[in-house]
Amino acid sequence: MKTIVEVKQLKKVYGAKGVVFTALDHINLTIHEGEFVGIMGPSGAGKSTLLNMIATIDQPTSGDITIEGTSIINMKEEQLSSFRRDKLGFIFQDYNLLDTLTVKENILLPLALAKMNVKELEQRVQNVAEKFGITSILEKYPYQVSGGQKQRTAAARAIVANPSLILADEPTGALDSKSATDLMESLTDLSEQEKATILMVTHDAFAASYCQRVIFIKDGKLFTELVKGNTSRKPFFQKILDVLSALGGGASDVI
Ligand code: ADP
Repeated sequence: MKTIVEVKQLKKVYGAKGVVFTALDHINLTIHEGEFVGIMGPSGAGKSTLLNMIATIDQPTSGDITIEGTSIINMKEEQLSSFRRDKLGFIFQDYNLLDTLTVKENILLPLALAKMNVKELEQRVQNVAEKFGITSILEKYPYQVSGGQKQRTAAARAIVANPSLILADEPTGALDSKSATDLMESLTDLSEQEKATILMVTHDAFAASYCQRVIFIKDGKLFTELVKGNTSRKPFFQKILDVLSALGGGASDVI
């Protein structure tokens, strides 16, 4: 199985001199191609810090992160921005769509620098739009579509350039349960059928129950890990709730 992400002895300390705060410590994590992995934990546990470091947005204090065998530590900003563009896809809670562009133009954005002809671009957009069930809204503007459709647009944009890794930060945070279900089902299909590798931070045990594996962080350290294996989604959801209540804090966020 191909390794996509390898995190080794990751540590992040904020602040300097007397007022230092260790946000993450001794984090080791390996993610293989096609895995859909969730990160959960109480507020302040270090989830965003971890995601931001893997996203190359923030630098660790020590330790190493490799993505598809390339260390992203000590890369220069110029290298990092092309690395982000070529290797990573992002889905955020608040969609991050451009209001002045249509759904289709938003999806095309990551391909702006790709050397593809119009026909190839059209084909790519059609393919990803079908995956997320948004073919009928391609010519609309973000303000003309629902929150769920906006998030599926953002997900289509995240995968259009075939990234090595999709990073999602609370992607269901602003969605109703039907839209959240649709999004999670599409992401599951992507990982199962197309070997897309997805790492998702979430407070939402329902969303996490779609993952193949959920990592729990507490006080900056790995607390435990649940692997779905052959368990179906509902009992896995219950297991996640049990760990969240053992963790304390955060379980109250779960509906
Ligand atoms: P989570 O995403 O799990 O809620 P974060 O990764 O945002 O947690 O934060 C982990 C800890 O690190 C928190 O205690 C937070 O206050 C602290 N922290 C995050 N960013 C900074 C920063 N830029 N400076 C100082 N402390 C920070």
